[in-house]
Amino acid sequence: DIKGEARPFQAEVNKLMHLIINSLYSKKEIFLRELISNAADALDKVRLHSLTNPNLGSELELTIKIRADKPARLLHIVDTGIGMSESELHNNLGQIAHSGTAEFLKTLKAEDSKNLIGQFGVGFYSAFLVSDKVTVKSKSATDDQYLWVSNSSSYVVARDEAGPFVRGTTVTLHIKNDSVSFLEQEKLEKLIKTYSQFIDYPIYLYKVEEQEVEVEDEEKKAEWEKKKAEKEARLKEKEEAGEKEGTVVDKHEEEDDIGDEPPKKTITVASLGKTIADYALMNSVKPLWARDPSEVTKDEYHSFYKSFTEDEKPPLAYVHFKVEGNVPFRALLYIPRKAPFEILDNLNPKSDISFHVNRIFITKDLGDDFLRKYISFVKGFCDATDFPLQVSRESVRRSNLRIVGNKITKKVLDLIKNLAKDPEEYYDFWKEYSKFIKLGVAEGDANKERLAALLRYQSSYTIGKDEKALTSLEDYVSRMKKNQKVIYFLSCQTIYECKTSPLSENLIKFAYEILFFTDSIDEFIMQSFREYKDYRFQNIAKDGAKIGEHSKKRKEYIKQQEAAYESLIKFLLLVLNDEVDRVTISSRLHSSPFAAITKEWAHSGTMQRVQNTRTR
Ligand code: ADP
Ligand code: MG
Repeated sequence: DIKGEARPFQAEVNKLMHLIINSLYSKKEIFLRELISNAADALDKVRLHSLTNPNLGSELELTIKIRADKPARLLHIVDTGIGMSESELHNNLGQIAHSGTAEFLKTLKAEDSKNLIGQFGVGFYSAFLVSDKVTVKSKSATDDQYLWVSNSSSYVVARDEAGPFVRGTTVTLHIKNDSVSFLEQEKLEKLIKTYSQFIDYPIYLYKVEEQEVEVEDEEKKAEWEKKKAEKEARLKEKEEAGEKEGTVVDKHEEEDDIGDEPPKKTITVASLGKTIADYALMNSVKPLWARDPSEVTKDEYHSFYKSFTEDEKPPLAYVHFKVEGNVPFRALLYIPRKAPFEILDNLNPKSDISFHVNRIFITKDLGDDFLRKYISFVKGFCDATDFPLQVSRESVRRSNLRIVGNKITKKVLDLIKNLAKDPEEYYDFWKEYSKFIKLGVAEGDANKERLAALLRYQSSYTIGKDEKALTSLEDYVSRMKKNQKVIYFLSCQTIYECKTSPLSENLIKFAYEILFFTDSIDEFIMQSFREYKDYRFQNIAKDGAKIGEHSKKRKEYIKQQEAAYESLIKFLLLVLNDEVDRVTISSRLHSSPFAAITKEWAHSGTMQRVQNTRTR
């Protein structure tokens, strides 16, 4: 406890404190991320300033040390960073320096804060998520060492007389009753690994080793002292009486011998780490994305991939890039060889890209705004520099995130496009990820064209060739016949069914290519896809499918046929009455006598079958 004048916090800080303390936020754990990131910022400043100011002690190792003192319920975060002077303690920790925060806080409801705290972090004040009192001891190069203490309603700043005096800052959290789990070694290790493993400075976590020691029992001591005084008084009385009588008093004759020393008790304390060996170094993996792509080898990319996935196989592809400009960031993204199990049957897959700001992990879940679902199979890291993380910058942040997300999406689509140059390799991609690309096309966002270029199908042209042979829409179009106006497709349960369908007969005979759809989603996406490069998609199981443009001769032939079969048509209509809408002469058939089709806007037979099996 320090002496000094209690100061009120700036009104905005109070509001923020109120939100923090009353938020039942489950991610209290982010306090550690925030405090470590402040320590890293302070170390950055030393590194920067020492370039121009050689007096800034280069002899002091730039580190972050974390020590949990379980018995005392304290958590210390110690850095050898730039430190804060007396006035900086007031200015930085007594008020919110970021403009706009006040405005933002006015509109913020307690309900919102639950989600916002985790994503943005409320910086230093998040310490109060887990503490009822916080002490900051700081020494900057320009001032004496000062203490800042707060119980969250007001704060005190006072000069530290006790020392030791070392440049940097020690933040000490007096952990709340409900948060003592944050003093556990394992938990701290996990949190540091999750949020701060790519920090530029070594993070040492003090190994909590408990020891039993004997200490004076403060409670019993007073009683003991009282008894001792009483005993002495008694002895003195006896002595005085004895002197008169001429006898000597044996002090040990006293019956209630209370001992020469005050009573002791055994308590458990954490032994203090004295050397670096008492600490575990928490962040040894270097963030590969922060390096220059031209200097990183394929092996390094592969082993880094292994370090953060459980994938035994090397990735199918990866891309590493740096973006300058308004929202600078770096990214390193991998396509796993196998589609991650957990996203395959998930209609709402979560992104697996870890979003970092200055190497500090923020979240994997930035929502659809950030990353399109159709690239949710990509794993990796994105690291933004100087990204506004304060609560106040909500709108800036959202639009910035969108910029980052859009760039990432384009880069991933480029990566896949490159893969597609090698049909063998692309086949491996396609068998794992076709669903995503198709869903992307169905979604129809700004990248629809790019995605459409990645689609591959079997067709009446590719079957019978290599089993891996697939066609792109572009290749299909390049093979279209002169008089062909549409892209034909047929959707069936199997390829065999497609190629033997009566509906394909004449098209195949006249060498028109038909795309064969055997994935139920294929036909489904045609509902929104409609056309590719001005060519409409034509389902040949539906009304209105024509083969090319009929020649005059053929038109006449069909007319003749209609006349010749008029009575059969009438008869069939009569017999099938409720079952069919129309019976017509078909130009699709060659050897089969008839085929059933649906109306243009109705579900095709295959589609109906898919829906029936779904609802059943
Ligand atoms: P931010 O980090 O976004 O600026 P914080 O609330 O986390 O906001 O911290 C407020 C300010 O307090 C920082 O900008 C910094 O000036 C100061 N500060 C916090 N922790 C430290 C530290 N460990 N060493 C030096 N300065 C610190
Ligand atoms: Mg901060």
